[in-house]
Amino acid sequence: MSQEQTFLAIKPDAVQRGLIGPIITRFERRGYKLRAIKLIVPDRSLLEKHYDEHKGKPFFEKLVGFMGSGPVCAMVWEGKDVVKTGRAMLGATNPLNSAPGTIRGDYGIDLGRNVCHGSDSVDSAKYEINLWFQPTEIQQYDRAIEGWIYE
Ligand code: UDP
Repeated sequence: MSQEQTFLAIKPDAVQRGLIGPIITRFERRGYKLRAIKLIVPDRSLLEKHYDEHKGKPFFEKLVGFMGSGPVCAMVWEGKDVVKTGRAMLGATNPLNSAPGTIRGDYGIDLGRNVCHGSDSVDSAKYEINLWFQPTEIQQYDRAIEGWIYE
């Protein structure tokens, strides 16, 4: 079974709005395994590395300011195809284009308040997990329910 991992960050807007629980519940209910979780106010250096691909774009400063404005709930989730499925569960970047039933489609309206981040590829997941977490913060454990989730 693939042990793919993805990085998810519940953004400051969703932490303030009390959406940590509902978002985690969706990934737990789907069957994915939580490997790491922490509340962190990311500093500018971390955010510049995280959003490196957007450096120089008009929205970059606002984005970095917003993401550092309060606690973010950073997580590592594991399971089969979790990068692609996690993105599908999030919905489109702009919540107004996100289908109902997705996290952004159910909880968001504005692009700059789009609730949750998820890695967009296996490579960026590896980069982001390494950026946000120390190896000792990532837990390795077995779940008895595994056989009821995977055939
Ligand atoms: N963003 C923004 N204005 C834009 C484009 C993006 O505020 O015109 C923000 C938005 O919150 C988005 C983040 O920048 O989630 C990163 O953009 P990206 O295209 O990587 O989208 P994502 O991978 O988060 O769906």
